[in-house]
Amino acid sequence: MEYRLQVGRILMSVWESAEFDGHEQVCVFTDEKTGLKAIVAIHSTALGPAAGGTRFKVYSSDSDALDDALRLSRAMSYKSALAGLPVGGGKAVIIGDPHQLKSPELLHAYGRFIDRIGNHFATGEDVGMTVADMDRIAEVTKYVGGTSKGIDPSIPTAEGVVHGLRAVLKRALGTDSFAGAQFALQGLGAVGWGVAERLHAQGARLIVADVREERVKLAVAAFDARAVPCNDIHAVDCDIFVPCALGGVISEATVPDLKAKAVAGSANNQLASAEAGAALAERKILFAPDYVINAGGIISGILGAAALPGRETPHAPSLDQAIEAIHDRLLGIFDHADAYNVAPEIAAERMAREMIGR
Ligand code: NAD
Repeated sequence: MEYRLQVGRILMSVWESAEFDGHEQVCVFTDEKTGLKAIVAIHSTALGPAAGGTRFKVYSSDSDALDDALRLSRAMSYKSALAGLPVGGGKAVIIGDPHQLKSPELLHAYGRFIDRIGNHFATGEDVGMTVADMDRIAEVTKYVGGTSKGIDPSIPTAEGVVHGLRAVLKRALGTDSFAGAQFALQGLGAVGWGVAERLHAQGARLIVADVREERVKLAVAAFDARAVPCNDIHAVDCDIFVPCALGGVISEATVPDLKAKAVAGSANNQLASAEAGAALAERKILFAPDYVINAGGIISGILGAAALPGRETPHAPSLDQAIEAIHDRLLGIFDHADAYNVAPEIAAERMAREMIGR
């Protein structure tokens, strides 16, 4: 009874949600035996079948879960369109605490629901889900990526970031040579380390910070990098600040500290607010929209996974070409931003919407 009421409330609010934005399809799934409550939101299939990760987390209400699914699904439409992928945007959320609720039976029930949507949606890993969970879901549906059979997405993500950094360097410093340019790298994890390796190999000078001391020591030794405290990395004198750790690092509080000419890195949701983006633009600090420069992982996931529906499209570009295209895509976004006198993140959103016919 309680389920029915909650589902009823969700359905009532779908069209009224501020995040709705003409979603093509929204599915609500429940499996009382395992406690599964899931929402799959498909924003657009204009460019191909939708793809997007599954997020498993506690929400303050079912409406919050719905809004999150809708917002993230629209963001996936933009990300995939600007990555040049023949897929649309979707996202799924499973409501609840993964540590308490997750079980093989629940993942199977979820996978069967995903299978029911068929060729319109394929999913992968997101917050609260693991590669092992994707393997479990893959036992009952082929519409899943990010399994242990795929490649580690951090490698193509790092490659894409470096292609993007070349475009940023060109636009902000008028050169496309990394030699002698100074990069301040926040985070030396899977992506940050890969970016550091590639920049160092091309003669860049690195300033680094990570909360994990051992990573910092390794980077100092391997890349002749200069280490600074985590609280200072955004404010050091450098050419480009490269956030590869957390979201929200560019805020109205941190923008005045920046000395870099540009901000470009892999971290998701770097702008804490629209105002933070405006503050960067005001200071003429170039910003590479994160979901454009960090798209190497999804590009490899979609083009590399045989089971994903996007694979069936005959005109898909090769993996290397698609990752390299991040360079030109960013230059196009910077041109658009200049032409219309808007910040790059606004230009990116406008271009993406045009590509999906909105
Ligand atoms: P990771 O967990 O491997 O690395 C993050 C690193 O940041 C860790 O070494 C951590 O110690 C460090 N860190 C955490 N807090 C910090 C702080 N306050 N200051 C400095 N360092 C700090 O993660 P990752 O896979 O390398 O991803 C990095 C970022 O890129 C994340 O925002 C992620 O969402 C985004 N991203 C990753 C991928 C991918 O393929 N892995 C794809 C797209 C976007």
